[in-house]
Amino acid sequence: MEKEYDYMIVGQGLAGSCLALELAAHKKKLVVFNNAQGHSSSRVAGGLINPVTGRKMVLTWKAHQLFPFLNRFYTAAMVKLENNFYRTLPLYRPFVSTEEQNEWQGKSVEAQFAPFVEAVVTASEAERMVKDPFGGLLLKQSGYLDTDSFINSVAKWLKKEHKLVNAKFDAKDVNFNEDVVVYKEIKAGKIIFCEGVGAIQNPYFPEIKFRPVKGEVLTIMLDTPLHKIYNRGVFVLPREGSCTVGSNYNHKDLTWEPTNAGKEEISKKLNELLLKPYKIVGHKAGVRPSVADRRPVLGASRQNEHMIIFNGLGTKGVSLAPYFAHQLANWLLTGSPIDKEVHINRFF
Ligand SMILES: Cc1cc2nc3c(=O)[nH]c(=O)nc-3n(C[C@H](O)[C@H](O)[C@H](O)COP(=O)(O)OP(=O)(O)OC[C@H]3O[C@@H](n4cnc5c(N)ncnc54)[C@H](O)[C@@H]3O)c2cc1C
Repeated sequence: MEKEYDYMIVGQGLAGSCLALELAAHKKKLVVFNNAQGHSSSRVAGGLINPVTGRKMVLTWKAHQLFPFLNRFYTAAMVKLENNFYRTLPLYRPFVSTEEQNEWQGKSVEAQFAPFVEAVVTASEAERMVKDPFGGLLLKQSGYLDTDSFINSVAKWLKKEHKLVNAKFDAKDVNFNEDVVVYKEIKAGKIIFCEGVGAIQNPYFPEIKFRPVKGEVLTIMLDTPLHKIYNRGVFVLPREGSCTVGSNYNHKDLTWEPTNAGKEEISKKLNELLLKPYKIVGHKAGVRPSVADRRPVLGASRQNEHMIIFNGLGTKGVSLAPYFAHQLANWLLTGSPIDKEVHINRFF
């Protein structure tokens, strides 16, 4: 392995993977440290990509920028990494009342929503997969990322190029020598920490107000194949041979263990949505690296400008990571600005 790099990346979840692809596209010399035995929220994530979310069905923040970008990014990544991990799929959200249906007849033609609305469905679907007595909203630019497969594909490429070190990185052992950072005889211009919740222990970023949130997902089997994603209360996401169902939010229990309470909470919501029988065959839990204002965090440590962070992808990480990895890479390479809402300076 060489000893001098432009950038060291710490952590190869979604954040580190997207950033590695971005920086490599600019021919930068990289080394990625990842503790493969550690926890990764990306490995647990459902991978859902959904432009209209929440009980109130609001447009995802920055949807007009994020969604076209992620589509180009993951499509190009599939070509580079020679694997299929990203899929666009329509997403159906049953309405809860005729008022909601009427409201969406108007909203669906508004400029902000129109690019994401395929149709306003005014009667129950013929397939009778879910409870939808008032019809529902059929969305486009939705889909999913098979996060496990994406991260494995990036790891395979990094390994082949001798850019991946499977080890826990200890920020306390970093030394600074003029304009370079030195870690165990490896030198780099900058270190970018993409550690997920691991960043809470990082001494270079004590100001960030992390607010980690546990989540659980179920894997279910259905006799009838689904051809779209269903989402109301929970999402039901069809993959090859099974469906992923999730998720819930728990701020108190921050362990990585799946719980009966989590399973019951998700099953209850699933039973309120799905009309078909199903069997639970898997159950996982993880802790989302969220911050208090639920926005990503990008920028340099106040203690040292060579120590950079890319984090805060706890909510909608799959949709946010490509756009903000690109923004961070541009800032590193050209000094172009980081959006105020995601800049680490908001914590200083
Ligand atoms: C149950 C659940 C469901 C979710 N569902 C969705 C969803 O449907 N759609 C969506 O968009 N988002 C979803 N998310 C959120 C989102 O996908 C993740 O939170 C996001 O992927 C976080 O990525 P990350 O790279 O920041 O962190 P992580 O995935 O946690 O990656 C961090 C990596 O860094 C490594 N690491 C940490 N510290 C060190 C160190 N010191 N040295 C070496 N390696 C280190 C870890 O081992 C890990 O590999 C979900 C999250 C959960 C928990």
